[in-house]
Amino acid sequence: MPATPPATTVMLTFDDGPDPRSTDALLDALLAAGQRATFFVLGEHAARHPGLLLRLHAAGMWLGNHTYTHPHLTRLPPERVWAEIDRTQRTLLALTGVAPTVFRPPYGETSPRIRTIARSLGLTETLWATDTRDWDGADADVIVGRAATTVEPGAIVLMHDGGYRSTVQALPRVLRELAARGLETGPVPGALPGPPTGSPRVASVVTD
Ligand SMILES: [Zn+2]
Repeated sequence: MPATPPATTVMLTFDDGPDPRSTDALLDALLAAGQRATFFVLGEHAARHPGLLLRLHAAGMWLGNHTYTHPHLTRLPPERVWAEIDRTQRTLLALTGVAPTVFRPPYGETSPRIRTIARSLGLTETLWATDTRDWDGADADVIVGRAATTVEPGAIVLMHDGGYRSTVQALPRVLRELAARGLETGPVPGALPGPPTGSPRVASVVTD
């Protein structure tokens, strides 16, 4: 069982990136606040935007595996599930020198078989407790409410690095509101600890 996260920690997660429309802005907001998040990236997007992926990695953000092409895994045969996850592991390892240790299935669709495949590739599955529904048109005020104002300490919060303006607009306010509540960000269970929280390295700008 993963250790219970401290009651003063909220785990912010951003799925589907990296994305030239949102990654830089999300990362800038996190760095400005001295906070970190987990980015569950798509292997296909990492391969297409390696500069953005490397910027996340260099800034000390936690990187997770969100498959290569974002399929409905429960509809795929085991060998294709394995290939989606393994290809993403190899892509991220080749780019950053580190293989992820956490995995999030697209749409949260999972099964014991999928979890077993992920485990065989060294990955702990991570879903979420709080869905901001930024993917479903939630505006910045709603996202701030769900991710910060009313969030339960210890919660894993789902947001997206998918080019949504609302998420980009909300994040600086989310981070201010969390700080006002005495909450800080932390890694999802199973993520490699990385550098100490609150001291992310300043990322150099890499042109994609
Ligand atoms: Zn996704």
